[in-house]
Amino acid sequence: MSRVEAILSQLKDVAANPKKAMDDYKAETGKGAVGIMPYYSPEEMVHAAGYLPMGLWGAQGKAISKARTYLPAFACSIMQQVMELQCEGAYDDLSAVIFSVPCDTLKCLSQKWKGTSPVIVFTHPQNRGLEAANQFLVTEYELVKKQLEATLDVKISNAALENSIAIYNENRAVMREFVQVAADYPQVIDAVSRHAVFKARQFMLKEKHTELVKELIAEIKATPVQPWDGKKVVVTGILLEPNELLDIFNEFKIAIVDDDLAQESRQIRVDVLDGEGGPLYRMAKSWQQMYGCSLATDTKKIRGKMLINKTIQTGADAIVVAMMKFCDPEEWDYPVMYREFEEKGIKSLMIEVDQEVTSFEQIKTRLQSFVEML
Ligand code: SF4
Repeated sequence: MSRVEAILSQLKDVAANPKKAMDDYKAETGKGAVGIMPYYSPEEMVHAAGYLPMGLWGAQGKAISKARTYLPAFACSIMQQVMELQCEGAYDDLSAVIFSVPCDTLKCLSQKWKGTSPVIVFTHPQNRGLEAANQFLVTEYELVKKQLEATLDVKISNAALENSIAIYNENRAVMREFVQVAADYPQVIDAVSRHAVFKARQFMLKEKHTELVKELIAEIKATPVQPWDGKKVVVTGILLEPNELLDIFNEFKIAIVDDDLAQESRQIRVDVLDGEGGPLYRMAKSWQQMYGCSLATDTKKIRGKMLINKTIQTGADAIVVAMMKFCDPEEWDYPVMYREFEEKGIKSLMIEVDQEVTSFEQIKTRLQSFVEML
C-alpha cells in the first residue's frame, strides 16, 4: 500500500467510525468529547478545554420511527436522523452538546433534546453587518464558555484559546489547499476519498488531521498531474453522502473540483483573524466574514455568483445542487441561484439528499443522463 493509500485509508476509517475515534480519544487522554451540532460553533473553545469536538451530522439509511413523535414528517432529513439517534441514546456519551439555532428546525430540536448530555444553545445574530452583532455574539460566546467550564469542570484560558485558534486556522488553510489538490488530481482523490478527508476532520483533533493532510498533499504533489478525461463539477448544499452516492460520481467519472457544502468547504471558508479585542471578539467577527451560506443572512444573495465563479475558475462543466430533503434555508436559496446559473449558461442538476434512503438508483439514472447531456 502506498503512503497516499495508507493515509486515505486511515482517514476513511475515522470518517466511518466516529464512536471509535471518540473512545480512542477518551482512552488516550482520560477526557471526553463534546458534540457540535451543525453548522457553526466556537469549536475552538472545546479544543482549548482539552475535549474532542465531534460533529453530529446524522446517519445514513436509518429508518425513522421514534423521531416521528417529536418532529413533523416535513422536518429536514438530517435532523430526523439526529433526533432518532438521540432517542436511541447514541449521543449520551458526550459530555455536552453545543448548538446554534439559525433555522426553525434547529430551534425546535434545541428545545426537544432527548439525550442525557447537557445542551448548550446559543444564537448567531443574523443582521451581521453591524458592530452590535459582534458584541452580541461575544456575549453569547461568554455564556457558552461559562457553561462549558461549569459542565466540564475546566478553566478555558485566553492563552489556550489563542493556541486552539491558531491550530484551527492552520487546519482550515491546509484543507483549502487540499481542495485545490483534489481538483488537480481527481485520479488520486476521487469523490469518496475527498469526502472522507473532510469528514474525518469532524472527529479528530485538528492538529492530528492537519499533520495527515499535509503529508497527503506533499505525497500527491510529488507526482505529475495527469489529464482528466471525465467531467468536472462543483457541488453545493448541506452535505453529499453516503459513499454509495459518491460511488456514482466515481462510476461516471465525475470529479468534484470544488464544493460549497455546509459539512465541507463552508467549515473552512473563514478564519479567525488576528487583531484587537481578544479571542472571543475575533471569533465572533469571523461570523461577520462568513459568506455564501444559506444559514448566514445575505441580503445581496451572492451564493449563486460565488458558485458561478468557482465553476469558471476550476473549469468545471456544471454545478450539482445536493438538496437536503425538506431544508427550508437551502430551498429558499435555490430559485435565485438557478436563475443566475441559467442566465450565465451554466448547466446544473439538483439531486435530493435523504439520509433515510438506502437505494440510489434514481440518482444514478439522473447523473448518468446529466453526464451524457454534458
Ligand atoms: S439548515 Fe436545513 S438541513 Fe440544516 S437543520 Fe436547518 S432545515 Fe435542517
